[in-house]
Amino acid sequence: MTAGESHPLIVAIDGPSGVGKSTVARRLAERLRVPFLDTGAMYRAIGLKVLESGADPHDRKMVVALSDAADVRLGRRPDGSFEVLLDGEPVESRIRTPEVGEATSAISTYPEVRQRMVRLQREAATHFGAVLEGRDIGTRVFPDTPYKFFLDARSDVRFRRRFEELQATGQPVTYADVEEDIRRRDLRDSTRIDSPLTRDDSYVFIDASDLSVEEVVERMAREIEGE
Ligand code: C5P
Repeated sequence: MTAGESHPLIVAIDGPSGVGKSTVARRLAERLRVPFLDTGAMYRAIGLKVLESGADPHDRKMVVALSDAADVRLGRRPDGSFEVLLDGEPVESRIRTPEVGEATSAISTYPEVRQRMVRLQREAATHFGAVLEGRDIGTRVFPDTPYKFFLDARSDVRFRRRFEELQATGQPVTYADVEEDIRRRDLRDSTRIDSPLTRDDSYVFIDASDLSVEEVVERMAREIEGE
């Protein structure tokens, strides 16, 4: 199936932290004229809720109760991309801190939390088509889509990228903090029992270490458009 046929176009982009999945997925979605969905932002919304409630992200019972009670919805931005709303409010400006990232990687190990997010992701994307990025899109959320990409990069490239991103937003972080944070999250994300970050032969693997955003998007678009 190629872009433009009657089924909604679903593109899965998975990979570790700091590899630039969001930037690439957003640009690819614009090019393919389907919405972009940052699934990490949905898990981060729950992480934020847990932190704001003063709960311990490792207290599974409490996290599941908070997650069940949270009103998580997907709105649409003017550019067509999905926007995560928590209890009616956009969360984007509050979820990009290392604290929320760390809490999120803990709460996203719980199957109860994941089931709910996966359901929301499927509902939204099945309706409109989408480019989705996360950790389990091609393995769990849409395992049957023919368009799966695993985006990776050398760890030093990923640490630097995330460090510069956080610095640009004025957050007081050191390179060593960022490195430790990413290592810990990657380990947890790829070793958890439910939907770990992994890939198989159904993925197109792209090492983005020495590629520009444009080059990565171009490679993906060609793969999808069958050129
Ligand atoms: O991609 P991002 O860094 O925003 O994701 C934050 C955290 O959310 C990840 O470290 C991971 O634990 C979790 N996540 C997940 N499954 C997804 C997307 C994100 O478990 N599909």
